[in-house]
Amino acid sequence: MSIISDAIQSTKAIIQGMAVTLSYIPKQKWTVQYPEEPVTVQPRYRGQHLLHVDELGREKCVACFLCAAACPSDCIYIVAKDDPRPAEQRIGVDERYAEVYNIDYGRCIFCGYCVEACPKDAITHGYNFELSVYNRADLLKTKSDLLITTQLQSKNYRVASSHEDVDSEYKEV
Ligand code: SF4
Ligand code: SF4
Repeated sequence: MSIISDAIQSTKAIIQGMAVTLSYIPKQKWTVQYPEEPVTVQPRYRGQHLLHVDELGREKCVACFLCAAACPSDCIYIVAKDDPRPAEQRIGVDERYAEVYNIDYGRCIFCGYCVEACPKDAITHGYNFELSVYNRADLLKTKSDLLITTQLQSKNYRVASSHEDVDSEYKEV
């Protein structure tokens, strides 16, 4: 092939490439300047777990171990304790509660089986996704890290409302 036809082919390819690039400039941008701007997460997003309390602030978990039994990664560790005090003085809603409730996020695969297994709606997935740490041991979260009343919530996300087309973030635009 001659040098002239090479030059024509190359120029054509550059023009085609630039045309694609330029065609994207007027389109809506889906990139987010994280963490200055909050990331939009979908309502069904599975982030760090939340351990829930009832309207009186009592822990809903009754330490039945069903979540730990359902966990395929064996990453939930619970120590049950009896609390025979009158109902209004108890830590939990029942006589039995979880004195220790740990989740090892070095093993958790965010499958949601623990949430499905819980008969008390005591555990759900929250939206916190900022779980990166410098030390692997810090991936072990304890009850105070997980309880809804004490868990630190990041300001770097917002949950999409049901009418938002959040899936667009993952589509060709
Ligand atoms: S989300 Fe899945 S892997 Fe993680 S703690 Fe629950 S059951 Fe275990
Ligand atoms: S979180 Fe739910 S399933 Fe797990 S021990 Fe507590 S009550 Fe049982």
